[in-house]
Amino acid sequence: MNIRHANHTIYVGAGSNMANRLDNLRKAIELLNQLPRTSVKKTSAVYHSEPLGFSAQEWFYNAVFELRSELNPETCLVQCKRIECLMGRPADHKKWGPRIIDLDILLYDNRTCNEEHLTIPHPELSNRRFVLLPILDLANPVHPVLGQTMRELLETCPDTSSIERTGHTLLTVT
Ligand code: AMP
Repeated sequence: MNIRHANHTIYVGAGSNMANRLDNLRKAIELLNQLPRTSVKKTSAVYHSEPLGFSAQEWFYNAVFELRSELNPETCLVQCKRIECLMGRPADHKKWGPRIIDLDILLYDNRTCNEEHLTIPHPELSNRRFVLLPILDLANPVHPVLGQTMRELLETCPDTSSIERTGHTLLTVT
């Protein structure tokens, strides 16, 4: 019997402001691609962005990855945290401090999740230009709670921090 598995579209936001930031984003893609029944279908441009909160640190490289996966939201979060750990991010990291890699689940299909340790869409999605701009390189999905597209959210986004597109590209695996 031919069993069809549910294939979910997951947008993962990635950021790095330590060591080789570009290599870190590429390593994260490689590790996400190694997850069971998961592939990184598209990657945004790489953005250079000012750190929020605690400014005395290196600027970030940010990007968004579009995944096709059968992982459920919980497992996807566990795997993202495992990859952060594997890449050397301490579990007790400071909230606004430097990070070798940060992986956030931004959107999971058009689903919502409100668990203590997992909120989907990501609660800061509409407040961060370094997330909205890269998502728009990939698609213009509707925020399932706010009912607005990413482009509409960008127009009213309160974030005034600096962000610029770099010329770097990430590997795209199809
Ligand atoms: P961070 O400092 O960005 O690594 O996030 C800290 C915590 O946010 C994680 O340990 C998660 O439990 C929680 N969290 C809640 N919602 C999300 C989400 N959509 N994606 C990633 N982490 C999340």
